[in-house]
Amino acid sequence: MAGIVAVVGRPNVGKSTFFNRMIQRREAIVDAVSGVTRDRHYGKSDWAGKEFSLIDTGGYVVGSDDVFEKEIDKQVELAIAEADAILFMVDVEAGITGMDEDVARLLRKVEKPIFLVVNKVDNAARLEDAVEFYNLGLGDYYPLSSINGSGTGELLDALVKVL
Ligand code: GDP
Ligand code: MG
Repeated sequence: MAGIVAVVGRPNVGKSTFFNRMIQRREAIVDAVSGVTRDRHYGKSDWAGKEFSLIDTGGYVVGSDDVFEKEIDKQVELAIAEADAILFMVDVEAGITGMDEDVARLLRKVEKPIFLVVNKVDNAARLEDAVEFYNLGLGDYYPLSSINGSGTGELLDALVKVL
């Protein structure tokens, strides 16, 4: 096993959709409506001949901001403890949210490779919208669409280099 990759981010950015695409099996649960308690899921994937494990840190309970914040802390803790690389996913449809900024703040302290993934970049217009994510202070980002697959190759090329 070459490495463990955790996908973190606030609810609804598309973590489970990405996970499902990567593992090509319907193991993670994708919700159009948030609010289901779920466990994290593990799956295997490979790219350019390198195999790795993916963690979908999807489990959360609907509720107050407090509950979300605790869940995000938990995701980041898990990622720090278990992962060799972290995919921090955000959503170009929604833009930067307060919760994204909270996650970014936590991740800045983590000394592991972090890839900022701007999801839902389904078309060229959204590619332009993605530039705002430079403001998260994490440097360059990988725009992609977990639904149609565009952009995933660039991310995976960079990811497997650090595994
Ligand atoms: P999670 O809570 O971060 O795991 O997010 P989900 O994977 O459950 O996705 C939340 C919603 O975003 C669902 O309605 C998905 O269909 C949608 N979604 C996920 N990826 C994309 C994408 O690349 N483009 C678009 N337009 N929608 C997406
Ligand atoms: Mg999920």
